[in-house]
Amino acid sequence: MNKPRKLIADLVAITPTSIETWHRCERRYLLRHVLGLPGSDTGLSNDEGLRLHAVLRFVHEQLGCQSDEYVATVLSDHDCDTDTMRSMMRRHKERCPSAIVDPVAEAVRGHHEVERARYHHKPVPMFLASARLDAVWVHDGILDIRDYKSGAKSALELHNDPRAWVQVWVLAPRAVAAEARLRLRYEYLAAEVTDDPDPWEPDADDLEFVEHQLRETVIAIRDSEFIGVSDVETCGRCPYRSVCRDSAAVGVPSWPSLAVEPNPS
Ligand SMILES: [Zn+2]
Repeated sequence: MNKPRKLIADLVAITPTSIETWHRCERRYLLRHVLGLPGSDTGLSNDEGLRLHAVLRFVHEQLGCQSDEYVATVLSDHDCDTDTMRSMMRRHKERCPSAIVDPVAEAVRGHHEVERARYHHKPVPMFLASARLDAVWVHDGILDIRDYKSGAKSALELHNDPRAWVQVWVLAPRAVAAEARLRLRYEYLAAEVTDDPDPWEPDADDLEFVEHQLRETVIAIRDSEFIGVSDVETCGRCPYRSVCRDSAAVGVPSWPSLAVEPNPS
């Protein structure tokens, strides 16, 4: 029988989510990103986060986020006019490049849910990195990548965050083509998060470091035995905790199952 690492293709595909998963737990990476298994354990619903992203995309493709009256109408029309949504839209409004830049002096161009990919082949290993960016703005000579967050804040600064590595590496050639500085900002929009991490403007040395980190990660993925971290706190939040051989926090699987009638005999 093949070892799990034989399941890894010569050309490894990486995304912000997959590389974050990898750095959290190699077993979870195998189950989700190699085998594609559905999670066995119910987690918190992400419905509100998905709604937030959809509304932000919609308003920016129409009249923008700066009119409270317009945003209130959109929330009402889409049946998501809640205190939480209103609060997150207000917090975004303050952070949005369209609020910072003088629209008369500078043309502000923003694009939402932008998908980009970049291929790496030398030096080995080969990999294909792709990312779906919540928003990419061009203003003031800056290619400004925004990632909307509706949940809790990460403890990592952006330059140490594997998700950020993929995002800036994929967009770096676009910044060069646009003759713009590259900037990444995570917008934490939940009221519980009091401050965003500092935006990151990676220079040439930073991007070289990022590429090195990505290569090292891909080498580690291809050499891995996919052993889980077996940590109570990490496993306690894992969607595979009740089916993972290395789980330190066994849960009750929530996969659908058939009710079996007791045998009358
Ligand atoms: Zn906006």
